[in-house]
Amino acid sequence: ARRADSGGIVVIGLGRFGCHLAGSLTRMNREVLAIERSPTKVQRWSAVLDRVVQADATEEGALRQLGITSFGRAVVAIGASVEASVLTVLALVELGVPQIWARATSQKHAKILASVGAHHVIFPEAETGDRVAHLIVSRLLDFI
Ligand code: ATP
Repeated sequence: ARRADSGGIVVIGLGRFGCHLAGSLTRMNREVLAIERSPTKVQRWSAVLDRVVQADATEEGALRQLGITSFGRAVVAIGASVEASVLTVLALVELGVPQIWARATSQKHAKILASVGAHHVIFPEAETGDRVAHLIVSRLLDFI
């Protein structure tokens, strides 16, 4: 059974990226606490994920009430709103979450996330684009 300890991972924002991340971690038997602002998305994902709660992650008090200080890692999967993503990272830093991963949508966004205190900045679209480019080129070589 999964339990709340430093092995648990908080996933914030169940958009196209966040829902796949949370689903994969769940299938890897990790304890996942998913936080999502939209009630309809919370309802949709609560059938698939163990713990999905509706909250605005930019609110430090709300995060504290959810017990996220007992989690060792958090991933901020919000992309479209730079403000929401930065304020969420700031709240996680204030709460002392040891490992904060954050998704950036541009180089400037990445710089802000790092300066606020994110430990790892990820670019899902750029990284997938690079990987697919390499895959395509290596497959092309098979046919030469
Ligand atoms: P994706 O590309 O992953 O689908 P998106 O660009 O379509 O993401 P985003 O605006 O980046 O959508 O948001 C991703 C998810 O984060 C959405 O489900 C959104 O409701 C949620 N979200 C946005 N702001 C907050 C917040 N302050 N607290 C909690 N969840 C949030």
